[in-house]
Amino acid sequence: MVIFVKIKAIKKLISILFLKCPRCRKGKLLKSHPYQLKYFNKVNNSCSYCSLQFKIEPSFFYGSMYISYGLGVGISLIVFVLLYIMGITKNALTPFFTITGILILLMPYINALSKVIWANFFFSYNSDPFKNQTKN
Ligand SMILES: [Zn+2]
Repeated sequence: MVIFVKIKAIKKLISILFLKCPRCRKGKLLKSHPYQLKYFNKVNNSCSYCSLQFKIEPSFFYGSMYISYGLGVGISLIVFVLLYIMGITKNALTPFFTITGILILLMPYINALSKVIWANFFFSYNSDPFKNQTKN
């Protein structure tokens, strides 16, 4: 039972990290790769695989800013602890510029990841997303 729960959590984590649709875990949530800056932060209207409508209300993904903030703080703390362990924190500017640089480089992925995490709060996984659609 515990192993089954862990496998489910790992599968969910993998789908989040690869920015997949929260319902089918096959379609993409974003219009393009996060680092393709032409479509930066653009979310598909619906899933290409299961046709799930991602925007359930206007400005739905604004709430992902809270997730983005949390991810940014978490990454900053992890980088600072790593720099502290390596003994590079004696000069205060080194960790500041290192953390700032890493956050700027990761910003497109953090934004995309926060949107997928936000969507996972509202949509649950369905192993057969077409089951309900065939009944209608
Ligand atoms: Zn889907």
